Amino acid sequence: MKPAPFRYLRPGTVDDALDLLTEHGPQAKLLAGGQSLIPTMNFRLSQPAVLIDLNRLGELAGIEESRRGLMIGAMTRQRAAERSGAVRDRAPLLSEAMPFISHPQVRNRGTIGGSLAHADPAAELPALMVALDAEFLVRDRDHQRRIAAADFYTGLFATALAPDEMLLSVEVPKTPKRTGWAFEEISRRHGDYALVGVATTITLDRKGRCDGAHIVLLSVGDGPVAASQAVAGLAGEEPTADAIRQAAEVTATRDIDPPADIHASAAYRRQLARVLTTRALTRAVARAQGAEVSETGAR
Ligand code: FAD
Repeated sequence: MKPAPFRYLRPGTVDDALDLLTEHGPQAKLLAGGQSLIPTMNFRLSQPAVLIDLNRLGELAGIEESRRGLMIGAMTRQRAAERSGAVRDRAPLLSEAMPFISHPQVRNRGTIGGSLAHADPAAELPALMVALDAEFLVRDRDHQRRIAAADFYTGLFATALAPDEMLLSVEVPKTPKRTGWAFEEISRRHGDYALVGVATTITLDRKGRCDGAHIVLLSVGDGPVAASQAVAGLAGEEPTADAIRQAAEVTATRDIDPPADIHASAAYRRQLARVLTTRALTRAVARAQGAEVSETGAR
């Protein structure tokens, strides 16, 4: 199918783009990499009257080291983040997980901001940003504000962005000392959306006990799902194999309520959550303890 007719506008500055967004209101859609928006338009699931193309806004693209960690512009291509040395140094969880997003062709075009704003519950980046305690910088014509990643996702394909707001960038804090991380997912074929995925971090205190952790899952709810009961159970504990198994069990049975669909039953998704959380936490703990950890299977 072809998309319904629309007007195409290509502003040269963020201010101009925000003026257009205010002028056209809910009739308008921002176009980033087009890897999600254009297919939904072709299927006529989305029929914006106006497309505001962000691809000329060089000021929105790029990765910079900031005092807290990293500032990643919304129009940064996913492939650029995947290949960035700064991302590898300061947010290695992100580096590890990027190759799981579809295929290089999609990542060459798809943007960090487009994926975060699209809020697909099966997407990797929203869950990663929640696991990394990232903050989103958003703006309308008159105001700028920051939103914690955990507060940004409000439901199925829904975010805290107002219709006249644009995502400008995301700030990812530097990974703290004595912190390990790992990302795991299962999909039917490499590059497909995940049946279940999990992003984990764990920080150990000087005695080797858990001083903080994140377990955030994708494809098990309306958006990224933080396994808060499992994380509470780990607090102050030595992350032994038993403690990890217990955390994975709580994740699978109490923290998530996964959907069933044509790809997987709810029971199968729970089992995947159990297995993947065990694997991810085990690798994260080994990294926090300073051990060498083998790579995941992503390409
Ligand atoms: P677009 O498609 O241009 O926009 C998506 C939405 O975000 C639109 O509503 C748009 O208006 C809005 N938007 C864009 N930028 C902004 C902004 N700065 N501020 C506010 N709103 C904005 N993704 C995964 O995570 N995992 C996968 O496994 C995966 N597999 C894929 C497989 C295929 C074959 C394809 C085509 C895509 C796949 N994707 C996957 C989606 C891909 O990652 C997209 O790039 C991403 O979801 C959207 O980014 P985009 O830059 O293309 O945004």
